[in-house]
Amino acid sequence: MVADSQPGHIDQIKQINAGAVYRLIDTLGPVSRIDLSRLAQLAPASITKIVREMLEAHLVQETEIPVPGCRGRPAVGLMVETDAWHYLSARIGHGSITMALRDLSGALVVEEEEPLPPVAPQPLLTRIIAQIDGFFTRQQQRLERLTALAITLPGIVNTARGIVYRMPFYDVKDMPLAEMLEQHTGVPVFIQHDISAWTMAESMFGASRNTRDVIQVVIDNNVGAGVIADGRLLHSGSNSLVEIGHTQVDPYGKRCYCGNHGCLETIAGMEGVLELAQQRMRQSVSSMLHDQPLSVEALCNATRQGDLLAQEVIRSVGTSVGRILAIMVNLFNPQKILIGSPLNRAADVLYPAILTCIHQQSLPAYSRNVEVMATSFDNRGTMAGTALIKHAMYNGTLLIRLLQG
Ligand SMILES: [Zn+2]
Repeated sequence: MVADSQPGHIDQIKQINAGAVYRLIDTLGPVSRIDLSRLAQLAPASITKIVREMLEAHLVQETEIPVPGCRGRPAVGLMVETDAWHYLSARIGHGSITMALRDLSGALVVEEEEPLPPVAPQPLLTRIIAQIDGFFTRQQQRLERLTALAITLPGIVNTARGIVYRMPFYDVKDMPLAEMLEQHTGVPVFIQHDISAWTMAESMFGASRNTRDVIQVVIDNNVGAGVIADGRLLHSGSNSLVEIGHTQVDPYGKRCYCGNHGCLETIAGMEGVLELAQQRMRQSVSSMLHDQPLSVEALCNATRQGDLLAQEVIRSVGTSVGRILAIMVNLFNPQKILIGSPLNRAADVLYPAILTCIHQQSLPAYSRNVEVMATSFDNRGTMAGTALIKHAMYNGTLLIRLLQG
């Protein structure tokens, strides 16, 4: 039954128009119907109809816009109504799941972190569902109307079909995460790789806002990238990660969970970085790293204090990442490269190492003006999921379901 599962042409136009109008109200509100008509390039009658449906559904509200110097009636403006609509934003990390209630503006209501051990007798999917059930039970008093679930996680993900093919740390094979959760909760479920979702969040509300072409690299336990090309996340509908983490840097290197050897992630991932530091420490007795337990934080502190060995380790990470980034600069010609990493605390050493590679190894016309800077948000918590929900409201897919009640 194609007609049931796929929206017809008219429905699709309605969805796109409603999403565009909601986006304008959300980003510009309070905004008048006349301005909406002009900005959305829709007839006043269409705006009236779309706005009426949103008002009836309590997704937007009217407010008075005072007109300076005018004694007459104030104009009527529209603003989004977000408090009464909640969604669950969850993030699965290494050994834990973080769950939060947020309202439609993205504001945090409550956030909790629970253990999710990599190895356990029950399958991961069963454990995720149990964790989400437990969270809803605990937060029952706070929960307003539930609109959707947004789940972000590392691994190889098909966002369109909601399937997680593989994950680091967990034994997962083709897990139908979105479908099972949708059946279980009755609301739409959006899943996305955590780095892609984070890239969307930076582009919507963070360091790459209003930048059309961006490469965002995450150097953490996992290494990966998101690309914004011409204002849109590249591959957003499919297996959407730009897999630089699984680009081979060393053919004789360590085996990676993806099945390959010497992936960038095995070298620049935090585990690999600490291993490298450990190896180098054997060659240098004078490093201050010997005085304390080895951690990423200790490595960054030592780098900032001028420790030569620590600086060399950070520089070596910058060179590995920079080599791959130089190729990406030639492919995507970005205005900005964002780095999301706990190593940002050693940015004074890391960024010049990355930039040196880019300047030496990519086209001067492309690399000349590229900026390297830190992300606005960090790699914790459930912020990234807010981008999935905003995106689904703006393209109309979630909005239309809320309008239909
Ligand atoms: Zn790999």
